[in-house]
Amino acid sequence: MMRPNGSEPGRERRGSGGWADVLAHEQHLVAPGSEWRSALWAVASEQFNSAADRLDLDPQVRVRLLDPRRALTVNFPVRRDNGDIEIFTGYRVQHTLAIGPTKGGIRYAPGVSLGECAALALWMTIKCALLGLPFGGAKGGVRCDPTRLSPAELERLTRRYTSEIFPIIGPDRDIPAPDMATGEREMAWFMDTYSQQVGHGVPESVTGKPVVLGGTAGRQAATGLGVVFSLETLVERLGWRLAGQRVAIQGFGNVGAVVAGELSRRGASIVALADVAGGIVAPNGLDIDAVHAWVAEHRFLRGFPGAEPKTQNGVLEVPCDILIPAALEAQITAENAPRLQCRLVVEAANGPTTPEADRILTDRRINVLPDVLANAGGVTVSYLEWVQDQQKYFWDADEVAQRMRGQVLEALDRVLTLADERGVTWRMAAQMVAIQRFAEAARLRAVYP
Ligand code: NAD
Repeated sequence: MMRPNGSEPGRERRGSGGWADVLAHEQHLVAPGSEWRSALWAVASEQFNSAADRLDLDPQVRVRLLDPRRALTVNFPVRRDNGDIEIFTGYRVQHTLAIGPTKGGIRYAPGVSLGECAALALWMTIKCALLGLPFGGAKGGVRCDPTRLSPAELERLTRRYTSEIFPIIGPDRDIPAPDMATGEREMAWFMDTYSQQVGHGVPESVTGKPVVLGGTAGRQAATGLGVVFSLETLVERLGWRLAGQRVAIQGFGNVGAVVAGELSRRGASIVALADVAGGIVAPNGLDIDAVHAWVAEHRFLRGFPGAEPKTQNGVLEVPCDILIPAALEAQITAENAPRLQCRLVVEAANGPTTPEADRILTDRRINVLPDVLANAGGVTVSYLEWVQDQQKYFWDADEVAQRMRGQVLEALDRVLTLADERGVTWRMAAQMVAIQRFAEAARLRAVYP
């Protein structure tokens, strides 16, 4: 039976309180749920929906879990160095409020939008739930080109953005962290601005801070180490030996350089590396200490003696056992996926594989360890920073790494076990484990009032 507003009982989407009638007359209105529309949201919600299908999630629960719970858009003025006033637009999206405060980075980039933040916030919910962290996901940012802003302008922008979103953030509400074009410096400004507003220092209001302001030991290497911890255990479960595996890595920054060094120390052979300026290949393995020294002196990998040059994307296609994209999103595409010559892909970067490429890799039986699991060491150590700040008691880098390792390996075990039981990919299993967790939290909290 259809209801007067056109929705079927039990299958209604949000806004069944007469929305269909309103929309019929007001064509200019955005349909409920379309506020979040963006290319990234389409990918994130498709992943969510296919995992929700497998879990047979009730449609009413599903729509309650998928759309972000809270979003704030702010337009605010910033004084440029030449005295001009420029208006910037910023966002903060909090995806799930069912489990503790929300957590997620802040990015400065020209493409930042409500829809992009919504997708990234949903992925943060998935990552936190998968790792068993007591957070929902969030994401925020300011639409700007950070390369055309001076340090003084960036400081004014960061401080004003912090004050604008102040009503919805805080150590028990929503805890920001660095993302694209933000780092320790911006987090220090952020923490200071928040603290000025409340009248005392609140280091736990943000993570990714400098250590002297309450940042954690071991944060810098955390994401790369997390990749290596999960890979070590995964390889063992597959019955392979890590020593002797041939590894190709795209990206030699915070994440890629740590992964290359740690894997090489464990006996793996790094046969190809790439950065933004180009790639290098050595089928018998690169000397990673020598590569570090070369990059310290020459900035880029190109020209490294004894290695064959390759393009940035060419390294994705070299023969190897394990391919680790650790640079940008959308690097493994429908175009190059048929040519990959690896046995396993480990997504150290966020979103490096497009959905079409993912299907090709599944058909080719190349397993993919998904980003939400492979690079979750970073958010786990952010959580440990927040914990240390709350208790005003700090651990050394070893203790931080061991605690993170335990949490990452537990998540890995759950994902591999569920994937085996249900015959699904690791990406699907990771989504299912996470969605089950926050769906249960939302169910138990029920509906208020
Ligand atoms: P980074 O800026 O330190 O390093 C990026 C590296 O990629 C650099 O070596 C750069 O030269 C290289 N690169 C850029 N464009 C390239 C291209 N077209 N081809 C080949 N190489 C290219 O960044 P990062 O912190 O190492 O982050 C890398 C990835 O890991 C990103 O996707 C990021 O979202 C993800 N990630 C990072 C963290 C973290 O804690 N840093 C946490 C989770 C996920």
